[in-house]
Amino acid sequence: MEKKQIEELKKELEKNKSSLEETLQRFAKKDDRPEGDWDTVFPKVEGSSMEEKADEVEEYSSLLPVEYALEIKLKNIDDALKKIKKGTYGKCEKCDEEISYKKLSLTPETKTCRNCN
Ligand SMILES: [Zn+2]
Repeated sequence: MEKKQIEELKKELEKNKSSLEETLQRFAKKDDRPEGDWDTVFPKVEGSSMEEKADEVEEYSSLLPVEYALEIKLKNIDDALKKIKKGTYGKCEKCDEEISYKKLSLTPETKTCRNCN
C-alpha cells in the first residue's frame, strides 16, 4: 500500500474515531480504567413514579448493546491507528497477507483480509 493511501485511511480512522466518541458521550461517560471502557450513565430521575423510573432504566438498558458495539468499533479503530504508528497497518492478523486497499477503504479498521473473514 502506498504511503498516501495509508494517510487517507488514517484521516478516515481519526474522523470515525471522533464521531464515535461523540456518539458515546451522548449516553456514556468515559471510564478512566480500563482503557477504552465506557459506562452507560443512568440519569437520576426526580419526582417520577416507580413505573416511569422502570421505563427509564429499560430505555437505557436497551442502549447497552449499542454502547458495546460502539466500544468495540472504537477499540478496533484505536488498534488500527496504533498499527499505522508501528508500520504494520494493512496486514491480515490471521495470514499476514496484505489487506486490499478496497476493503480497507470501506472499513479502515478491518483486521483480516478477504480470505480470512
Ligand atoms: Zn488473511
